[in-house]
Amino acid sequence: MKTVGIVRDALFLRHRPPEGHPESPGRLKSVYAILDQGDLTGRLTLIAPRRAKRKEILLVHTARHLEKIRATADREVCALTRDTFTSAKSCEAALQAAGGLLEAVSQVVEGRLDAAFALTRPPGHHAEKSRAMGYCLFNNVALAAAFARRRLGLERVLIVDWDLHHGNGTQHLFENDDSVLYFSIHQRRIFPGTGLFTETGRGRGEGYTVNIPLPGGYGDAEYAALFERLLRPLATAFSPQLILVSAGFDTHRDDPLGGMVMTAGGYAAMTRSLLETARACCGGRLVFTLEGGYNTVALAESVKAVLMELADLTRHDPRQVMAQASAKRIAYAVHRATHVHGRLWNLS
Ligand code: ZN
Repeated sequence: MKTVGIVRDALFLRHRPPEGHPESPGRLKSVYAILDQGDLTGRLTLIAPRRAKRKEILLVHTARHLEKIRATADREVCALTRDTFTSAKSCEAALQAAGGLLEAVSQVVEGRLDAAFALTRPPGHHAEKSRAMGYCLFNNVALAAAFARRRLGLERVLIVDWDLHHGNGTQHLFENDDSVLYFSIHQRRIFPGTGLFTETGRGRGEGYTVNIPLPGGYGDAEYAALFERLLRPLATAFSPQLILVSAGFDTHRDDPLGGMVMTAGGYAAMTRSLLETARACCGGRLVFTLEGGYNTVALAESVKAVLMELADLTRHDPRQVMAQASAKRIAYAVHRATHVHGRLWNLS
């Protein structure tokens, strides 16, 4: 039986943006509730989270940024940007979210777990080196990649970001780096505005940033097809030793923020595709971290579908799911990506 770990902690519910904010504690409450009902009970291993240490946060952030977040502790509300807020326990929760993910990565890399999912908040992929942004305080997935490289000694890490939004922070933190390949598939022309096909990395990192910005209306079949047609050959060529996933569920058809039409089954098919890729490249080492997803029911069902797939309790076939894909939608994305990246990566 596969051993799948989760990071789960009541502290993550104590990060409380003002009433009515989409990134609410209710998101994780809904996820935790579904884990306690039925199919998954007793099938997951709890990873004890820990606070990220100062020197770990400084792997990607400036000391000034850390101090700025620390200064919010015990203050009822601080507005860091127009849409990014903290409450009294937000700093603690954010340090625990980052540290929880680092612990998950350690346990998967050491072989104590087959895979893991950090069910944490606040999310991370918009956080830049020196500023909070887009509901994110620390860039969890970037910290995890830097930690895997510099503390665990891995040479190549792949970050797959399937959130509705482009992970600007993650891209910027590794755009000069050829040891961390950042692959993002997201809706175009929405927040944060970055993530064009032509943003491909800089210097040594040229070609190691791969963006697939899509118009709205893409669903399970198209995402499965793009994972099979683009991500799989890319990952095979890059040959990572660990795959990290910025897993946002705001591409769900019921999500209030986006225009995509994914369902829980589609996330399961993408997870299967990643599991197969991870098995071929890196002994199956796969670690997810929660980013967006703002319909609490859709979010919980989708996270459950991913965990069921990771634990092999379901087996979705991405090739079967992609059979229904719109040929025109796939051709658009494959053509644009191949045009930009075809020189370095064999994507045909
Ligand atoms: Zn998002």
